[in-house]
Amino acid sequence: MKGGRSLNLLITGGAGFIGLNFVHYLLKSASHQITVMDSLTYASHPDEIQELTSNPKFRFIKGNIANKNDLNAVMDQQYEAIIHFAAESHVDNSIQNADDFIQTNIVGTYELLQQLKTGAAKKMIHVSTDEVYGTLTPAQDPFTELSPLSPNNPYSATKASSDLLVRAYYETFKLPLMTTRCSNNFGPFQNKEKFIPTIIYSALQNKKIPIYGDGQQIRDWLFVEDHCKAISLILEKGTSGEVYNIGGGNERKNIDLVKRILEIMGKPESLIEYIEDRKGHDRRYAIDSTKLQNKLNWEQTSTFDQSLVKTVEWHMNKFGASI
Ligand code: NAD
Repeated sequence: MKGGRSLNLLITGGAGFIGLNFVHYLLKSASHQITVMDSLTYASHPDEIQELTSNPKFRFIKGNIANKNDLNAVMDQQYEAIIHFAAESHVDNSIQNADDFIQTNIVGTYELLQQLKTGAAKKMIHVSTDEVYGTLTPAQDPFTELSPLSPNNPYSATKASSDLLVRAYYETFKLPLMTTRCSNNFGPFQNKEKFIPTIIYSALQNKKIPIYGDGQQIRDWLFVEDHCKAISLILEKGTSGEVYNIGGGNERKNIDLVKRILEIMGKPESLIEYIEDRKGHDRRYAIDSTKLQNKLNWEQTSTFDQSLVKTVEWHMNKFGASI
């Protein structure tokens, strides 16, 4: 049975990787009325959105969050909450050209905050990233919500900028705002440009798998369904003005992760190819989620390896036949 009060929610970026997973999660676990606003960039899934439009609990509005007119069109009612996922999210693209990152991640978030000032929603969850904290050495403790912001690439700088705007709008106008900072997600619907899908698609085609630098970079992996569960708890019980870290507690060296995926797929390690390191490449991310666990009783539902096998199988089933 679907529990809880029915809320009308606006989800920005709901056609992207995490936003779409969140929409599916809500449609399964709750009976909320969902509006997705998304400009449908290359990173989105328009076919999945099209399928969802037959559900009376769902509506889709195409629009750009950095455009005032588009936003005004979506604000035809007061939402119980906005869950703000929309972003340009790929670090490599931001190194090539950060224009869209500035527009969507900074100006788009600003325009949403302006809407909040006029009462567009009773609260907003701003979805950010652990990358705003910068990088860690192997010996340092994981980032907490109190770690200083120290972004090292244009993408994370735009996310940190948006986090500061959210903080300032909470402090200045007492708007009901919360920020989440999650570690690297993985799961269904992730774009092929990202690390885990790149490994899977390259291996499926028996192509070389590009590994930046020495492959010793460490990331803390979070299964997207566990992330959705965390956002859902914050929506229900989170406190305005707070930041919540969401980490998987699954630190893995990039090279070890590649080897495990190759093992799951039955492919040889000879496919691995080391390439020149990414500019400004952070060495290690690790996130301390104690606050979320203690205050909101968040816990993960599956182990890292179970979720990884599920993810590899999903990508292989979805696209294996067409390769
Ligand atoms: P994604 O790139 O897969 O999807 C982003 C979605 O936003 C797309 O559907 C795109 O069309 C939409 N969008 C982009 N610009 C827009 C605009 N101007 N107006 C309206 N819609 C627009 O991203 P994701 O991986 O799902 O990430 C979602 C959020 O989570 C982002 O804010 C990202 O910074 C954050 N995050 C992601 C990860 C991760 O591992 N994927 C980790 C930490 C934080």
